Amino acid sequence: MLIINRKFPRVSLFDEHLHQQLDAIRDAGLYRELRRVDSPQSPHIRIGGKTFLNFSSNDYLGLANDPILKEAAGKAVKKFGTGAGASRLVCGSLAPFHELEEGLAGFKKTEAALSFSTGYATAIGTICALLGEDDVVVLDKLIHACLVDAARLCGAKIRVFAHSDLDDLEKILRWSSTFRLSGSTLKRELQPPRTLIVTESFFSMDGDAAPLREMVALKEKYGAWLMVDEAHATGVCGKHGRGLADELGVGHRIEIQMGTLGKALGASGGFICGSLALIELLVNRARSFIFSTAPVPAAAAAAAAAVCFVQSNDGERRRRELLERVKQCRTGILPVSDHQIGMGDRRDACPALSAIIPIMVGNEKKAVELADALSEQGIFVPAIRYPTVARGKARLRVTLTAAHTTDDVNRLAAALNGLVNRKSQIQNQNAPARRT
Ligand SMILES: *Cc1c(COP(=O)(O)O)cnc(C)c1O
Repeated sequence: MLIINRKFPRVSLFDEHLHQQLDAIRDAGLYRELRRVDSPQSPHIRIGGKTFLNFSSNDYLGLANDPILKEAAGKAVKKFGTGAGASRLVCGSLAPFHELEEGLAGFKKTEAALSFSTGYATAIGTICALLGEDDVVVLDKLIHACLVDAARLCGAKIRVFAHSDLDDLEKILRWSSTFRLSGSTLKRELQPPRTLIVTESFFSMDGDAAPLREMVALKEKYGAWLMVDEAHATGVCGKHGRGLADELGVGHRIEIQMGTLGKALGASGGFICGSLALIELLVNRARSFIFSTAPVPAAAAAAAAAVCFVQSNDGERRRRELLERVKQCRTGILPVSDHQIGMGDRRDACPALSAIIPIMVGNEKKAVELADALSEQGIFVPAIRYPTVARGKARLRVTLTAAHTTDDVNRLAAALNGLVNRKSQIQNQNAPARRT
């Protein structure tokens, strides 16, 4: 990744400034770098000529390298070429996007759907299309960065509630309903202020589930709207893999259902499912949709094939396999008692399990050391640090897929359990942080 052009060896003041910042990042144990992978995403990946057992991917159903998706993408390349040419509103909207969106609306049982180039663009485009400075956006403390950025960009008043804390959420909703009443009458006539609650269903770095039923009841009580990002639940739980809102029977009561196409669906992109009015408004107002070239048609075709696949019997079988691996891993690494395994307390509150198992470490450098130690044994588990999670909340984030075998999971558990016995050694080493 790093390209050093020896023709320009002189370090400019600009670069000096950047090096100071990089040094600070390194000192804090937060330095990140890209690792080149020379294989497809799968349980075994090639990095630097070595094969690693991979527990880092969100390819939960093992679809990212599946022949069905590859064939769909290949066909789309043959028929529609590689590039989309311009924004869908400018040069016409290629058929694969429409097929994908019809498939998504059918999958999620909503009136309509709209796909975006990424999940990030979905969040930014949607929230900014719906809210302005007179409105209130209420975020879960652990919400994904793209939704935080979207909330900041839209200009609405931001309120944050403690993670999945319904009492805290209700306090904010009570405040926002009085705030709304006291807003300027003139402005209210033009466009009434609104409150939007934003949560994930399965949280990306903690793997726990939001209390969606209770949140739906609250937003209805206070006349707020709800947006649920199902990035890590789409394809993973619910009937036909529809997600956690479906599993909990509240999908039809959520105004804005978001998902991504690059995780369990094995392709790339993001989407919103909801009413036809919502989709029409996004086509007219979502700037990340309007002012961006459409994704490659092959990505839409692969995602559309994945949407069919997850609803099939084979999709059901992969979800069962995934769940078996998740349960095996959770019991297998429980003896790692020195590291708190996340989401323990909430496990019984929700009928569904995510495929994300965080192993809480705390200290950033220590998390990196543990990841390095696993890597020495040929196992790739990422150390997740600030700013992805809060400072002092670093962790190893294990993600499982249906493509892992019981042997793969046993190997991980044995390695983790072995590391705990060497923990004092690990703590005493003060190796520089190197891993993302
Ligand atoms: C990955 C992720 C996104 C962003 O989706 P991309 O397609 O990767 O841009 C949004 N929300 C959550 C919760 C995610 O985990």
